[in-house]
Amino acid sequence: MMITMPKYIESKILLVIEFVVVNSLYLLSIITYYRIIYNGPGSPLDYPQLRLNNSENPFDSNHQPAQKPPEFMTIHTLKLNQGFRYCNKCKCWKPDRTHHCSSSGKCILKMDHYCPWFSTCIGFFNYKFFIQFLSYVAIYSWIILGITIYIIYNLLVTEKYKDEYLTINLILLCVISFTFALAVVFFVCFSLYLVSKNLSTIEFQEQRWNYRGGNVYEFDRNGKQKRLANIFDLGVRENFKQVFGDSILEWILPIDINYKIANAGFKNGINFKVNEDVYKRWCENAELQNQLNDQLAEYKNRVRREREEYVV
Ligand SMILES: [Zn+2]
Repeated sequence: MMITMPKYIESKILLVIEFVVVNSLYLLSIITYYRIIYNGPGSPLDYPQLRLNNSENPFDSNHQPAQKPPEFMTIHTLKLNQGFRYCNKCKCWKPDRTHHCSSSGKCILKMDHYCPWFSTCIGFFNYKFFIQFLSYVAIYSWIILGITIYIIYNLLVTEKYKDEYLTINLILLCVISFTFALAVVFFVCFSLYLVSKNLSTIEFQEQRWNYRGGNVYEFDRNGKQKRLANIFDLGVRENFKQVFGDSILEWILPIDINYKIANAGFKNGINFKVNEDVYKRWCENAELQNQLNDQLAEYKNRVRREREEYVV
């Protein structure tokens, strides 16, 4: 491409810009590809504090962990009435948004999906690089597509094809870049949509298909059941900042913004900021549910007592 271009573009400045942009995108794609694999998605097992005791049997007779989770996990974890989550297979505590991945055989922090292209999971620590990689490849593909179309168009319009052949490489490049441009752009748009809603792919599926009861419901004034909003949704701007960082440079370059240390605030994949309004409604619902359960238990007891008295 770099050798062919000077034949078709006369402006030196345009050639330099094209050279710099295309090569920068290529380099950035390689760096992000490397970071996706090198950084990895992150797992609770990376934090020794989250491992359940190394003793032979960390679970008690009720199959519950015999110990309490560490404080740095419980400060922000959404417990409500479900109790703290843990993984039997990894023998570790499961922070919010963590899922056990059957492909890689361990728990993944803010798991998104398992990606066979990288042979690793996409999770909290490599999610940003994954989206950046897709974006670089998408822009790169569109530029290459534009250049090849320009060259082919030039050959046809100036009737140069009478003197020189249209190479098969050029046609192939045009077709491949067109396929990639379309497919990757679709993934980029979908990923950016999920970032704007602060949802991982798994959470998106849970919401859509009500998979494993992932949804929390509330009742409106007319007693109609409706799905409660995503508790991690902090508004589009804040959602993007959580994934990409605060500055423009962090957004466009593969700069790591997270830390694998326990006291890294909301940057360790264990603690997540929650939407205070939704959290309040979650708590109210949990309280209502508790009251309902108590009333139901009391009613059952009363019916049983009355039946016993009647028999006597
Ligand atoms: Zn696990």
